[in-house]
Amino acid sequence: MTSTSIQIFNHLYEELLATGKFNEHKIFEFFSLLGSSFIDALGLYDQNNVTLLTSPSGRSFIRVGEKSNRRRSNKIHYNCFVNGNYCSCFSFMFNFIQFEKQLWCKHLLVAKLAMATGQFNTQIIQEDDYGEIYRQTFM
Ligand SMILES: [Zn+2]
Repeated sequence: MTSTSIQIFNHLYEELLATGKFNEHKIFEFFSLLGSSFIDALGLYDQNNVTLLTSPSGRSFIRVGEKSNRRRSNKIHYNCFVNGNYCSCFSFMFNFIQFEKQLWCKHLLVAKLAMATGQFNTQIIQEDDYGEIYRQTFM
């Protein structure tokens, strides 16, 4: 993504934050900017698979679930630290960290969309659990 694309995304995102309205017009604007990545994110958004996990002290992250392609019946999930702009998925690792090809994977995109529109589940976790997940994700 170019810096201009990032500016356009931020503009669209701020509009979404201000209105909370994820209507057809807004969907088209995001699609025009992001293409197939946005369609993938929209699929996850529609499946309502976004959960905000938060600890009593307020530390939080987003967990995005999706069906595994490898195991038909199993669901897998990825941890997204939206403010830190990080996802635990392979695509993010490969395309962003290694090659700087894309700024956000579909999980980070859907996490941002869900936070902006309020369409997410919430789950309280203990401080120890948060610490363990954080360690597993980053270490
Ligand atoms: Zn991801």
